[in-house]
Amino acid sequence: MTQQSSRAQRPGLWWAAARAHALTAATLYDLAVFPLTRSKIPALPSAHLDDTDPCSGECGALGHGVHDASSDPSQVRRLFAAAPWAAGYGIACGCVPHYLFGLDLDRKNGIDGIANFHRMATDHGFAVPRTATVVTQSGGLHLWLTAPAGVQIPNTASLLADGVDTRGSGGYLVGPGSLGPKGYYRYHPDSGPDAIAPAPAALLALLTADQGGAHSTPVPREPERTALGSPERRLDALVRFVLDCGPNDLNNRLYWAGRRAFAAPAIAPATAADRLLAAAVMRGHPEIPARRTIVSAQRGAAREVQR
Ligand SMILES: [Zn+2]
Repeated sequence: MTQQSSRAQRPGLWWAAARAHALTAATLYDLAVFPLTRSKIPALPSAHLDDTDPCSGECGALGHGVHDASSDPSQVRRLFAAAPWAAGYGIACGCVPHYLFGLDLDRKNGIDGIANFHRMATDHGFAVPRTATVVTQSGGLHLWLTAPAGVQIPNTASLLADGVDTRGSGGYLVGPGSLGPKGYYRYHPDSGPDAIAPAPAALLALLTADQGGAHSTPVPREPERTALGSPERRLDALVRFVLDCGPNDLNNRLYWAGRRAFAAPAIAPATAADRLLAAAVMRGHPEIPARRTIVSAQRGAAREVQR
């Protein structure tokens, strides 16, 4: 409380526009939104000083990142009133009624995620749907898609193909109309939020291959991944996958990332174990059980190689 009142501050230049765009997304399209800074991070300071606190908003305070998101206009106004420095808004993924997720197709550092995604779609026999699409500041695209209820879409970085990330459960997409570090996010001229397409079944299958629940579910062998770049980048992506966990999927993610890291001959197992352990502990996983999960992933990967 005192924190908010002591910050009595005039709204920033972009605040009113950001709030208006966020309210439109919430009221017209049932999207759950929350304020972002110009750096695209949640604008409200964390309600808990200890970042490993497992609270996802149950305490009732504002300041739980993507968990603050709401499609209720009065709540959206309350969020923006508490964040006068906001310059944009995030759209929470995985919420009713759309179960939205996003494909983040990057174009930078010589990597063309848009071309790579189209190639991947052809390889896996699905058509890239016409759907709500946002143009990012780097010339990349965010393709919005819906998932069936109950399907958890993971947050991934360059796992589907180089430059192709996913924003799923526990993640968010920067809303169109937001101001970012390099300019505005806009809808692609050919698309709008009224036409969010369902994800192709083949894409869903790729993204949810590991959701058998139990660790005994066989993990499919990695396809040839010549496009994925160096082992360091590959391990970076797996570490980010662990760091991007939601409130209940940390252990599954740790196991999943471990299976992939230990199955990759070019990644040194000791390095993989150290970095994945550090990421899991940073996100609140107790160290001893995290080590056990990593050992179990390593055994699983070894069994897979023997088959
Ligand atoms: Zn809380």
